[in-house]
Amino acid sequence: MTEVRWEDISVEETGPVERTQCDCCRAETLQATGDLQSGEEWLGFFSVRWSDPRGEDHPPLFTVYVGDWSEAGTPDQRWAIRSYWRDTGLGLDDWSSEERAGITGFTPLDRADLLDTPFAATYWAMIDAIIMKDGRLEHFRQ
Ligand SMILES: [Zn+2]
Repeated sequence: MTEVRWEDISVEETGPVERTQCDCCRAETLQATGDLQSGEEWLGFFSVRWSDPRGEDHPPLFTVYVGDWSEAGTPDQRWAIRSYWRDTGLGLDDWSSEERAGITGFTPLDRADLLDTPFAATYWAMIDAIIMKDGRLEHFRQ
């Protein structure tokens, strides 16, 4: 994958914002999903989940899915990376063992899997594009 800049990544909304109740605190939770493209090249898709009002324990969560998500793709060819947006900023977050136990369709990548890889720059470009270009996340930019 060649290096892409966030300016060159387009964000396509793939559905309306979904509203659910958080399992733990019943706070209203919103989720937005979309596709990421660089020109003709499909880079991946994403979800952003946040609670309204913003909960102390639930910073906004960004998850980016890359790899082969065609029907021919296998779980070891599909990866997901994520970041919580805490007061200190966005960082790479690990998946808990409980979460890993429930995942069968893809390979969750942790912080250590991404640090110092060429893909890390692309990941952050995708995150920046989501924040800067997704119209549903306008409130995050203020
Ligand atoms: Zn909760």
